[in-house]
Amino acid sequence: MLTAGFPLPSVPIFKVLVHLHPNYCQWLTDRIHQGQGCHVVTLNAEIAMMTEKKAAIARVIRQADLIVPDGAGIVLYLRLKGKKQRRVPGIELAEQLLAQAAVHNWHVVFFGGAPGIADQAKENWLQRFPQLKITTQHGYLTPETAVTWQATLAQLQPQLILTCLGVPKQEFWIEENRHLCPHSTWIGLGGSFDVWAGVKQRAPKLWQRLHLEWFYRLCQEPWRWRRMLALPQFVWHALWS
Ligand code: UDP
Repeated sequence: MLTAGFPLPSVPIFKVLVHLHPNYCQWLTDRIHQGQGCHVVTLNAEIAMMTEKKAAIARVIRQADLIVPDGAGIVLYLRLKGKKQRRVPGIELAEQLLAQAAVHNWHVVFFGGAPGIADQAKENWLQRFPQLKITTQHGYLTPETAVTWQATLAQLQPQLILTCLGVPKQEFWIEENRHLCPHSTWIGLGGSFDVWAGVKQRAPKLWQRLHLEWFYRLCQEPWRWRRMLALPQFVWHALWS
């Protein structure tokens, strides 16, 4: 198995890459133990299409150290290219890492979400792993509170920084602030705190197995329809490429 010291094999997908590995959690755990900082992007079809349209997003994602196949569309694309890779939703990767954090006594930061959401997510995680060390901060900072938060982060030097500001805001935020904690693992996780806090639900397992998580989300949040037009565009692009 490839370890954290070696570059991972990757497959180009439009303007970025996706890395291949049988166990991303293990790879990241090794990397954290070696004190190597990491920016993780969880790639889905919507983000892949954003990279086609916005050069700045493609640039920041290309600089990430680990790009994992979060979406069913990405996994199907890899199949078309002859690569068999399991889908790894970002929220599940983060859940595996939180279990590791409890074992290894890592310090974790939950940054993002509406006020109260990261706190509720923390409470729910502490019921599962009371020993977890989690610092929270909501994602609606003023310029002044942002400066205070940056100073706090620089002082904390946590092993894991989970950032939920939505795509692509979280990716830009991580790029701008990574120097504050160069040995940390930073992951953009969209709406994961909303799920952990219990205010949103993931699709039932059957829908996930049928690759219909996106449709469940569209039913829950119909105002996302415009963003989700990226999905048929992605299929068209993938077949064309
Ligand atoms: N959010 C935030 N600060 C902002 C904008 C958004 O903390 O300035 C949070 C928002 O409250 C929500 C999450 O970011 O919890 C975005 O979730 P979404 O499911 O929309 O993420 P995406 O689909 O973009 O990955």
